[in-house]
Amino acid sequence: MLKRTRTPHALWRPAVLPWPAALPARALSTSARTDSTAGEAATSATPAPPATSAERPQPLTSNATLLSRFYAPTQRSTEVDTPLSLLQRGGYIRASASGVYTLLPAGLRVQRNIASTIARHMRAAGASQVQMPTLLPAAAWKKSGRWDGMGRELYRLKDRAGKDWLLAPTHEEEVTSLVSELALSAKALPVRVFQMTRKHRDEPRARAGLVRTREFLMKDLYTFDVDEAAASKTYEEVRKAYAAAFDELLGPGNWRAAEADTGAMGGQRSHEYQVDDPTGEDTILSCQSCSYAANEELAAALPTRQNPPSAADDVEVRLYGPTSLLPGATMTAIVGAKSRRLNETKLQRHLSADLRPLPLTSEEAWEWSDRPEGPLPAYEALHVVLDHECRGLEADEVGEALRAAALRYGSPPGTPAEALQDGPTLQELFPAQLQLGSDAPLEAVLPLQYADLRSVEEGDTCASCGSGQLRSTRTIEVGHTFQLGTRYSDALNATFTPSGDGPRVPYQMGCYGIGITRLLGILAAKAHERALQAGRTGFAWPLRLAPFRVLVIVDSAKEEALEAAHLVATRCGRRGLLLGQNQVSFADISVAIDDRSVRRGEKFADADLLGYPHIFVIGKHWEKTGEVEVRDRARGAAPGREETWYVRLGPLRLGPNAYVGPMTARPARQDGNAEQ
Ligand SMILES: [Zn+2]
Repeated sequence: MLKRTRTPHALWRPAVLPWPAALPARALSTSARTDSTAGEAATSATPAPPATSAERPQPLTSNATLLSRFYAPTQRSTEVDTPLSLLQRGGYIRASASGVYTLLPAGLRVQRNIASTIARHMRAAGASQVQMPTLLPAAAWKKSGRWDGMGRELYRLKDRAGKDWLLAPTHEEEVTSLVSELALSAKALPVRVFQMTRKHRDEPRARAGLVRTREFLMKDLYTFDVDEAAASKTYEEVRKAYAAAFDELLGPGNWRAAEADTGAMGGQRSHEYQVDDPTGEDTILSCQSCSYAANEELAAALPTRQNPPSAADDVEVRLYGPTSLLPGATMTAIVGAKSRRLNETKLQRHLSADLRPLPLTSEEAWEWSDRPEGPLPAYEALHVVLDHECRGLEADEVGEALRAAALRYGSPPGTPAEALQDGPTLQELFPAQLQLGSDAPLEAVLPLQYADLRSVEEGDTCASCGSGQLRSTRTIEVGHTFQLGTRYSDALNATFTPSGDGPRVPYQMGCYGIGITRLLGILAAKAHERALQAGRTGFAWPLRLAPFRVLVIVDSAKEEALEAAHLVATRCGRRGLLLGQNQVSFADISVAIDDRSVRRGEKFADADLLGYPHIFVIGKHWEKTGEVEVRDRARGAAPGREETWYVRLGPLRLGPNAYVGPMTARPARQDGNAEQ
């Protein structure tokens, strides 16, 4: 550290404020200096002769936010805090109704920081921001099939004329109409537009917290390309932009992209962006040896080698039939190992939409007294799909399992097991298809189709690398990307003229979401964890997310204390702060000054709740020495841990062209007399 002359405390008395004229020439120089001594220039000013009260200029102010005028209704509590309760008593959010929140100014500032980070990465990926309406007419949704397909999650309403409207949970239909009206030829493509809007979902499982809410802020990006190759390239570019955004917000290694089911959105491929959380609703299977990760809905693994099913008793058979049973129907049988779970999402992909599970119990409303023959005679053919795990099972064992399942379904309730054993053979049940009376072996007349139908479990072998073990983790989804193909452009007849003319073709689309409200909840939990690790309560926000990066606490009754706080704010904005080797830049950042007339303890307690990365204290130490205490919570050895420094402020008055260097701090460790 450089040895320097202590500025006498009397400097802060208005009577001896050094006016610009009194500053030495080098303090007024505008030439750029980079050496650390430059920062001291302003501090070496000689106090000016006493000024008369007539010369006393307006009190120094800055652009800093005064907490006396900032609405941040914090509350004290003796309860054990959760990230959610802390957001509420820290004055960030307030629950308006179940799954609906009001954002208060501090919460809004954090949300804006998250949103602007994401927007920056979207623009870097060549996307332009738009804003589509939240209130949408139902017409396009009826065309795309989602008015009915979305079921009860969609908020539907009628206007005074009785027309159907909805509160949009997503905007594929709207953006497709928008682009197809304006981008009519290949020359206008690609189009990439994104928005940040409030979305609505009639959430059956709205929970306390920001993860599953009825109204939420979401970033959604939509892309339109000329052909599939261009759409795939776009998809990869957006995935890269997502990786960069999540790395910045969550930190590398704190999120993962997993292959996912395209679900109700439809399309060709999709990825989910997941954050590990033991309370999460998703389960991700990830390989310990390679980069494979997938949602359990679709995760694939190699068949287990140990104890594969070898007899009819080792398998479970599920039967499916058409919704309305007419003579000549086909029965579908799904066969999986009893030791494993069948995966509902994978099953849905193998079953056409008009199939329903056939009850194997008496629950079906079959009038056995009127129709004692039962439902089986209506079925003419059998279609069998087995999970890969059943590959070693002999055809006769499969046949035995199918026969038992079919007979259970086709016999009146209460039929004893012995009667079933004496019942017809499988050939007798499906005589035409299975060539009753011929000697053909079962495998020759009943094709057995194999598919991946079971749920992958922890410890299974990765199908991607063939050797790694899969690990199961609970997660929360924060983003989702879909390569949609022509799912929406076909449905909405959204087409363009390809280059070189020819018939109009549908756009190749992609859609990409990030849940900002959800991220706010997740990032708050992380910021709380950082605070706990540092031995505090409240939050320890990283620099880019904090509601304010800098807080200046006025903890002195001295008349010029507030002016000193404004000087800190001004100097932070001009050249930042030197903490040892670290230059902390505060350019374009937000500074708050706690000028409230509340107890000192309350100011510090609220500072913990608002989670400022840097706190300056204009307090006792400043009164005695003219040095301001700096609590650095952003760059400590451990996340959120506090390091205390002291920094000498320059004179309050500087000319308009005065050179102001960074404030240079010295570590408090030297004399160890940090306040509080
Ligand atoms: Zn692997």
